[in-house]
Amino acid sequence: ARLANQIAAGEVVERPASVVKELVENSLDAGATRIQIDIERGGHKLIRIRDNGSGIAKEELTFALSRHATSKLKSLDDLENICSLGFRGEALASISSVSRLTLSSKPEQQEAAWQAFAQGRDMAVEVKPVAHPSGTTIEVKDLFFNTPARRKFLRTEKTEFSHIDELIKRIALSRFDVSITLTHNEKVVRQYRAKTDPAQAITRVAQVAGKAFAEQGLHIQSGEAGLQLHGWVLPVGSANTTQYTYVNNRMMRDKLILHAIRQAFEEVSGEQELPGFVIYIDIDPRQVDVNVHPAKHEVRFHQGRLVHDFILQAIKQVVVPLQA
Ligand code: ADP
Ligand code: MG
Repeated sequence: ARLANQIAAGEVVERPASVVKELVENSLDAGATRIQIDIERGGHKLIRIRDNGSGIAKEELTFALSRHATSKLKSLDDLENICSLGFRGEALASISSVSRLTLSSKPEQQEAAWQAFAQGRDMAVEVKPVAHPSGTTIEVKDLFFNTPARRKFLRTEKTEFSHIDELIKRIALSRFDVSITLTHNEKVVRQYRAKTDPAQAITRVAQVAGKAFAEQGLHIQSGEAGLQLHGWVLPVGSANTTQYTYVNNRMMRDKLILHAIRQAFEEVSGEQELPGFVIYIDIDPRQVDVNVHPAKHEVRFHQGRLVHDFILQAIKQVVVPLQA
């Protein structure tokens, strides 16, 4: 089973940022409203995620780290050449197979907190009592300590951390209601406070994407249930070119969406250079396939033409020509 986990790890765990992604998504799934992410040495040394979510009951701890996958493959070396295997729902098992993982948790109703520890390929999970508030802490130490081939692909501390920072920005722009703190080498790098009032959303947008959004951002709100767009675009010519697009609250970089936005700017201003924007498209989930390319962040709209024209018109309404 550990071998299968290491196979899966190749899929799920490419670099520290992919570990952070899986763990933060778990925290969000657990209903956390506060998430603290502590990183040391770009994540090679330590990735620690603390949340105030629903927690994991003592008797579920070991189960959370295990998975029931079989593999006919005999050695890890075979595996490193196979990269198209699809694995979902095995994040913790995969991560613990290539690191030293400590999971501490307490559901609110449970009296005491418990901790499970797993490291590398021998899946001997130890469970013992620990002091911990309601919620979950997962510590991932020494990532890839037992897979030198993968460790070799890690970039510098700074680069790996910048991938994590970017990931957290994307998440911060999709969950305004969750407060997120990110530290690196014990220094607070980002602190996104929860914004429960929609009017405060722009504060976080400016924090993530730059203060130009608060100063000059043009707010858009268009469409109705089933196909809606809202967000902010910067004026033509703005030096800030930070661009984020979301479909049903998932960050995407989709060709059709970007094409429609580009065309809107071009038609109004004649400019080819796009300024920054943060745009959310909400569409009836039956009208879209989101998992076309999970890694490429592309979607497939069933009625692409219609969506394209909708985005085009919505953006055109707010774009101000250069000489206006
Ligand atoms: P998946 O998220 O696809 O179920 P994971 O391996 O990521 O698979 O997590 C395994 C299980 O561990 C989850 O289904 C969940 O029950 C539990 N779990 C993981 N992280 C947390 C967390 N932060 N809070 C509560 N439960 C968690
Ligand atoms: Mg998960």
